[in-house]
Amino acid sequence: MKPPARLWPAWKRVAPRLAAAPRLAVFSDFDGTLAPIIRHPDQARLPAATRAALRRLCRLPRLAVGVVSGRALGDLRRRVGLDGLYYIGTHGVEWSGPNGRHHAAVGARFKARIQELGQALEAKLKQLPGIYVERKTASVAVHYRNAPMHAAERARYLVRREAKHSPLRVRLLEGKKVLELLPPGEMDKGRAVLELARRIGAGHRPLVVYLGDDVTDESVFRRLGADDVGIHIGRNEPSRASYRLSSPAEACRFLERLAKVRE
Ligand SMILES: [Mg+2]
Repeated sequence: MKPPARLWPAWKRVAPRLAAAPRLAVFSDFDGTLAPIIRHPDQARLPAATRAALRRLCRLPRLAVGVVSGRALGDLRRRVGLDGLYYIGTHGVEWSGPNGRHHAAVGARFKARIQELGQALEAKLKQLPGIYVERKTASVAVHYRNAPMHAAERARYLVRREAKHSPLRVRLLEGKKVLELLPPGEMDKGRAVLELARRIGAGHRPLVVYLGDDVTDESVFRRLGADDVGIHIGRNEPSRASYRLSSPAEACRFLERLAKVRE
């Protein structure tokens, strides 16, 4: 994998394709893509300009907008705060549409058991500085962004061990400075985005635009076709996306420009 090419120098070629597509599905990751990364994941906020750009986009005809995250669905919806969007939470395990319909691929039993696992992990990791255990409806995330290296290493070891020995047969997913314990199965951001795009198109697959910054977003970039547009948010890191932008501020600018070419 190589770092993708910068988007703006190619904009003259990309914009007409985005303008001409009969249907467009614009999906984006949340943390680090739309919302700047902050020290504590609980403080992540969507910038007002980005919210305005998303609102403008989702009012356009033949265009669907979705936000995708490892966050729980309810948490994600609260942080974005817009109707008219698709929301995909917990790495594709749960989602909702603009008509308010919810879908979750996990049962109540799993949700109860994963809470117990979260509690057990919290107790085990609470001695370690800078570790934050986030208990979600259908998963547990252990964040180590603010931990010194020895604590991060110890936490990673304990979480991996817990995942291996848990009777729940959880799936371990490693993201940027985070370990996620997810329901078993194959669902990931890529499968969820492509499945929703298929439903949105109702027989005609839309051109998919996807923005993401994390290793877990590669599951989307990997599945995009030659006509789709994958945009990695970051500083020259390797990715399967076709293009890159350097920051959430640039991602916002992209959404504004996209609205302009579709209006
Ligand atoms: Mg992200």
